[in-house]
Amino acid sequence: MQHFINVVLPIPLEKLFTYRISQAEAEWLTPGIRVTVPFGKSKIYTALVYEIHTTPPEVYEAKEIHEILDQRPIVNPIQLQHWKWIAAYYMCTLGEVFRTALPSAFLLESETLVLKNQDVEVNENDLRDDEFLVFEALQHQSSLKANEVAAIIDRKRVLPILNRLLKKNVILLKEEVYQQYRPKLVRYVRLGNEHLSEEKLEGLLASLTRAPKQSQVVLALFQLQATQKAPIKVTDLEKASNSSKAVIKALVEKGVLEEYFIRTDRVVYEGNDGNSEIKSLNPIQKSALDDILQSFEEQKVSLLQGVTSSGKTEVYIKLIEQSILSGKQALYLLPEIALTTQLIARLRDYFGEKVSVYHSKYSLNERVEVWNNVLSMEAKAQIIIGARSALFLPYTNLGLIIVDEEHESSFKQFDPAPRYHARDAAIVLGNLHGANVLLGSATPSIESFYNVQTHKYGYASINRRFGNVLMPDIELTDLKEQTRKRKMKGHFSERLLEEITETLDAHEQIIIFQNRRGYAPIVECTTCGHSPQCPNCDVSLTYHQYRKQLRCHYCGYHMALQETCQACGSPTLDTKGFGTEQIQEELQELFPNAKTARMDLDTTRGKHGYEKIITAFEQQEIDILVGTQMLTKGLDFRNVNLVGIMNADSLLNFPDYRAHERAFQLMTQVAGRAGRTKKRGKVIIQSYNPYHQILKQVSTNDYIGMYSEQIYERQLYKYPPVNRIIKITFKHKNFNILNEATEWFAKSLRNVFGESVLGPEYPPVARIRNQYLKNVLIKINRDWAISRTKDSIKKIERSFNAISQYRGVRVIYNVDHI
Ligand code: ADP
Ligand code: ZN
Ligand code: ZN
Repeated sequence: MQHFINVVLPIPLEKLFTYRISQAEAEWLTPGIRVTVPFGKSKIYTALVYEIHTTPPEVYEAKEIHEILDQRPIVNPIQLQHWKWIAAYYMCTLGEVFRTALPSAFLLESETLVLKNQDVEVNENDLRDDEFLVFEALQHQSSLKANEVAAIIDRKRVLPILNRLLKKNVILLKEEVYQQYRPKLVRYVRLGNEHLSEEKLEGLLASLTRAPKQSQVVLALFQLQATQKAPIKVTDLEKASNSSKAVIKALVEKGVLEEYFIRTDRVVYEGNDGNSEIKSLNPIQKSALDDILQSFEEQKVSLLQGVTSSGKTEVYIKLIEQSILSGKQALYLLPEIALTTQLIARLRDYFGEKVSVYHSKYSLNERVEVWNNVLSMEAKAQIIIGARSALFLPYTNLGLIIVDEEHESSFKQFDPAPRYHARDAAIVLGNLHGANVLLGSATPSIESFYNVQTHKYGYASINRRFGNVLMPDIELTDLKEQTRKRKMKGHFSERLLEEITETLDAHEQIIIFQNRRGYAPIVECTTCGHSPQCPNCDVSLTYHQYRKQLRCHYCGYHMALQETCQACGSPTLDTKGFGTEQIQEELQELFPNAKTARMDLDTTRGKHGYEKIITAFEQQEIDILVGTQMLTKGLDFRNVNLVGIMNADSLLNFPDYRAHERAFQLMTQVAGRAGRTKKRGKVIIQSYNPYHQILKQVSTNDYIGMYSEQIYERQLYKYPPVNRIIKITFKHKNFNILNEATEWFAKSLRNVFGESVLGPEYPPVARIRNQYLKNVLIKINRDWAISRTKDSIKKIERSFNAISQYRGVRVIYNVDHI
């Protein structure tokens, strides 16, 4: 009997692929083990065993697997089930989920190695100069990697030269797979066995009289071994004996000292010991906790709506405590950006070692370590706090999932597939584990609140700040009137300036919110009206004064700012609109004695960029912090008493059915950064349209008012949560082909779904990176069978792909697009 496995490959293939294995391998392998397999002409991929069987594939000859990578499964059956749901629901392939789910260090791909062709006598005169360099390098080295070849010839593209060398029979190519994860080994030392007794040590020291440095090391080590139970690191010994690596090395070579290695995790927390008492809840928090437990009893997802600074986190902590007491794992999901040391430190105060963190700024190796700790149910991975990717860790025993800031749109992955919503995928995961799921927010998404209204979710609320701190006082200022009365200084109204002055005088801190980075979004010539555009995208270039550059925020294209207009040559360039850079500049002029800083994408690059600014602000090294929506996420600053929102209108005027919901959430969250301690905070919102309904609702903290109005519109226009939507984006570099193709697709969709199909339409930026874009939107009635609907769409796509002139058009599904 022949044996086969079906595997998941990390590529967008609809089907699983079958490989042949031996009888022995069939007995050994189980689903969830990784193997490397050949695929295509020469590639080797890491694949995941999905099932083991004895049926040969019908349409191709199964190849043999290359290698088995794991001793035991690194992915469990619940995960596979979860991935299957994600692939089906979000209309992507299992391979795409696999690729996103695993830390990339687990997904080895082969690399091309260049080897010398031993069988051929090479005439060096036949070689061009660059070819000779490679040939020569191969005389000294058995193989070269592509990047090494590139370094040798000092050029990025190596394929042409490799092809030439292949033709001349000088080289051979081979595919090789490398293990990317390297365990971190810490070096320790101890005294060699034969010196362990005191007499022997004396003898040893006597023999070292001529080497005083060495005997100093031996004495220091002896002392360390006597006083500390833990193994002794080489670096500790260096310090204790005040000597160098070389001296220690010499002793190791003599056999006096023994070196050994212990594998450790890269991220090790020190300091927070987990001994802090968990705070007891106040009566409002307690009653919220009871409501939550009640809905868990009924096996419902629960939504906790608590105003900013009401102590939601303390409620989460209680639930986590209960969950781990029952021996289960707990997952605490947050938007990437809210994952600050503030929160991590807070959890570690209570739970110490049991907390692990997982998110995208972690390195390859760090992620593998967390994965392995969760897999082997190590005590240190009992509580995972992470961004959306933490959903994919190999939990075996989840008891609780918390999705904090559940309204955040960054929970939805935009690109690449799977375009999943982490909150919704978390609810499904919770179901698979029989775990309790709690969503938390001060400003719940319309979806989640709708699910409460329709009794799908349970509900709990805390409508007071902890310690009875008052909600901030929110004041609207009319920019139209201020401009008319000539009261504006730069982009600041009189009221905002007054408040800034007062706050600075009181030595309190200020947050200024402007949702655009850079200096100005548009540079315009006042003579001819020309404004510089990105050559690759249909969008104006944003002016960044700091670097004197014009930059595209879609593709990263940038150029130096020209002195004169590129169209007419006049030196009459002016800017329109404003971003965080300009606001910071104005503040520096208006308040020269205040320390200002900026927090946006430009200032927070790098692993700790964000952290540094937050810490500096926390330690009050900064008076005024100007920032984009990064500022809104769950930060708890003690000394902020004023928040200014520069321009509410830019938030309200988005052409999107969610714009108003988002504006409400964003402004309420930013406002929530003010006055979190005793004193009541102040918020000033500047707007040309201060009578806008949403602004009123923000200023009176009227969530229900906002919800009722928005849900009415969603019902009227059949938008989520009343209906589901699938957005299909089409991409192609040729404008005409794209238009034709999308017309064809939309028409076919209309044949099935009729009026529920909207578009095709151009998005606001209709060309990005030289690709034209067009969208079609399908509104899907909640009563329709969603899988049948998706099958119909996929069927249309298959016919579409069969039309040769449309073949290059990319079709991208975004289910529950937000
Ligand atoms: P939220 O998560 O709702 O924004 P937090 O949990 O950050 O609110 O609470 C705000 C502040 O109040 C924090 O400093 C927190 O430690 C404190 N706090 C909340 N609840 C309690 C409690 N029951 N006992 C003591 N301090 C509390
Ligand atoms: Zn001009
Ligand atoms: Zn661009």
